[in-house]
Amino acid sequence: MPSFPARIESRLPNVGTTIFTVMSRLAQECGAINLSQGFPDFHAEDALFERVAHWMRAGWNQYAPMGGVAPLREAIARKVADLYGTTYDPDTEITVTAGATQALFTAVAALVHPGDEVIVFEPVYDCYAPAIELQGGRVVRLRLAAPDYRPDWDAVAAAITPRTRMIMINSPHNPTATVWSAEDMTRLAALTRGTGIVVVSDEVYEHIVFDGRRHESCARHPELAARSVIVSSFGKTYHITGWKVGYVVAPRELTAEFRKVHQFNVFTVNTPVQFALADYMADASRHEGLAAFYAAKRDFFRDRLAVSRFELLDSHGTYFQLARYAAISDESDVAFVERLTRDTGVAAIPVSAFFSDAHDDRVIRFCFAKNEDTLAAACERLCRV
Ligand code: PMP
Ligand code: GLN
Repeated sequence: MPSFPARIESRLPNVGTTIFTVMSRLAQECGAINLSQGFPDFHAEDALFERVAHWMRAGWNQYAPMGGVAPLREAIARKVADLYGTTYDPDTEITVTAGATQALFTAVAALVHPGDEVIVFEPVYDCYAPAIELQGGRVVRLRLAAPDYRPDWDAVAAAITPRTRMIMINSPHNPTATVWSAEDMTRLAALTRGTGIVVVSDEVYEHIVFDGRRHESCARHPELAARSVIVSSFGKTYHITGWKVGYVVAPRELTAEFRKVHQFNVFTVNTPVQFALADYMADASRHEGLAAFYAAKRDFFRDRLAVSRFELLDSHGTYFQLARYAAISDESDVAFVERLTRDTGVAAIPVSAFFSDAHDDRVIRFCFAKNEDTLAAACERLCRV
């Protein structure tokens, strides 16, 4: 294959391959237990697979409507209304997407103009900043400081300018496993009051909140709901990260803009899977049981690491556990996870990957969305470090 005959001026000159791909690949090369990229190593229920097969065999294999199939949009509306008290119109305020990543990208593409400022909180999930930069937006990064990673609302107030178009938030938070409180949402509502700022709220871990805490969806807070594009993903909720189906709920004016872009970058999402998810959602116990299911895994993982030299930070939500390794090594977190993968046989994510300046608190992220056997084997290795 001859090479491209001119210089390519990259749209994303500082971007390489995502850390999730890098670490999963290294884990595979080394035969390590992969607690890096966030995905379960167990199956979804057969009942869900049966519904997909049913809809495929019944002939629902052509394009779905652009916004998603009606039964799924209606099921999403019912869930959001039941849990958070805001009723979204399935026709004009709910859109099914190809996962949360596409939803986030499309929301930014639809709403951010060149020169607009978008506030994000670092450590920040890796797809936010590139999406903003590709639209010519300016990423304004605020720091969540270890070890508790709380937002500094005075810093947010100071960062808001007339050019602020959007604030992107994520609770429960990847990678820190923190959960914002009702007070945080009240502060956010107060700071955005009277502005045209859009809140993009990444709530993919909405059902994974522990120890009696409550998920503070923007849909719970009418003032915030009115300015929010809320993103969720079935990947996290039903153990099907590879299916890449999610959704967006937003007021009709924002949904109209969202769909202008959505129709040209995906148009529509896998039809039989949408019908199957609509059927599956009818049983609310499936998402209601998720927090307890993952709390048990978190506790199992933490209990077994209690005798290790890792210092475990709090995990209040998501399926991640942060660990500080300062007692073990003073290597950078990137060097440490590489060595951990190669020599110990357990792969993790260096949290510096979520900072634009590679800020390093000597903290790494483990994913505990795994069978107990996997977690037990990983912990045995980690306790020897
Ligand atoms: N946002 C966050 C915070 C995530 O952790 C993830 C994936 N784990 C996504 C978005 C992307 O979700 P999806 O796989 O549905 O695109
Ligand atoms: N969200 C997953 C994580 O945080 C990774 C998804 C991906 O690989 N893009 O690990």
